[in-house]
Amino acid sequence: MGLDDLYREIILDHFAHPHNRGRLDPADISVEGANPLCGDELSLQARLEDGVIREVRFDGRGCSISQASASMMTEEMKGKTLSEARALVEQFKAMMHGQPSALEGTDLAALQGVRKFPVRVKCATLAWVALDQGIEEFARGGRAAAPATTEGGD
Ligand code: ZN
Repeated sequence: MGLDDLYREIILDHFAHPHNRGRLDPADISVEGANPLCGDELSLQARLEDGVIREVRFDGRGCSISQASASMMTEEMKGKTLSEARALVEQFKAMMHGQPSALEGTDLAALQGVRKFPVRVKCATLAWVALDQGIEEFARGGRAAAPATTEGGD
C-alpha cells in the first residue's frame, strides 16, 4: 500500500467513525465554524480543567476532509493547555500551507494531500481555526459576534 492510500484510509476512517462527535453542555469554549466555499459547518465545544483541555466535541456536516480533520483535531487536543493547543493549531496551519512543521510524519500529515487545492485546505483547517478562535474568545472572557470562517486568506 502506498503512502497516498494509507493517508486516504486514515481520512476515510475518521470520516466514517468520527471521534468525539456530539456536544458538551455546559462547555467553557463554544464556537461555530464554517467554510462557505465548500458548505462545511461545524460547532465545537471544549471543557477545561485547571487550564487544560479535558474534553472536546464537534458536531456538524460537510465533506470528508472537514469532518475527518475535526475528528483528528479533537484527539490531538485532549490534555493540552490552551497555549499548547494554539501552538498546535499554528503547526497544523503551517503544514497545510507547505511550511516546515513538527507534524510531518504524524497521522495529521494525511491531510497534507489536499494542499494543492486551496478550497480543500480551508476544509482541513476549519476545525483548527474554529478552536483557535474559541480559545481567543475564552481568553478575552467573551463571545465574538461572528462565527469562525475559513473563507478569508487564512
Ligand atoms: Zn469541505
